[in-house]
Amino acid sequence: MKLSQLGSCYVNLAVTNNIYRKYEKGTYPSFSENEIEVLKRYRYPIRIGSYGDPTAVPFDVWKPIILASSSHTGYTHNWKNSKPIWKQYLMASVQSLAEARIAQSQGWRTFRIMTPDAPLSKNEILCRHTEDDRIRCEICMLCDGNSSKPNIADRVHGLKWKVSNFVKYSESLSN
Ligand code: SF4
Repeated sequence: MKLSQLGSCYVNLAVTNNIYRKYEKGTYPSFSENEIEVLKRYRYPIRIGSYGDPTAVPFDVWKPIILASSSHTGYTHNWKNSKPIWKQYLMASVQSLAEARIAQSQGWRTFRIMTPDAPLSKNEILCRHTEDDRIRCEICMLCDGNSSKPNIADRVHGLKWKVSNFVKYSESLSN
């Protein structure tokens, strides 16, 4: 079974559903040149996508946004099929050590979700926010794609049933 079918994603869908409802009503504002100019001026850090896979949007659409920002984070579950250019900007989201090794061998840095008691591998560090909850992504910005920085791993978190689904999923991989 695929992880997506288990419903273990930690994202709170109340926010994204709200955005979608506004979009359907035509009241969600479009991203425009104006926002690009604001990004260029204030150099805000961005996260490339918040829900859904960023590689579903063509890179040429993202490029001006990424270049206008000062820094970025981003993740893709689509690393097996996405264009190589994305390796520069996104982390490969992986759910097991085996998957991490494959992605790393293909030139990706990885962000691995692991069960609460699983150990880190030698080339990984724990998400900085999990290490110290005063550190937020917009300060840390380690998850920004290919570089000599370490790979990141994080313990599964979120609602209890989601954590439990992920643990079952991980156990099914080792059986
Ligand atoms: S390692 Fe840093 S950038 Fe990556 S998820 Fe954790 S806090 Fe955010």
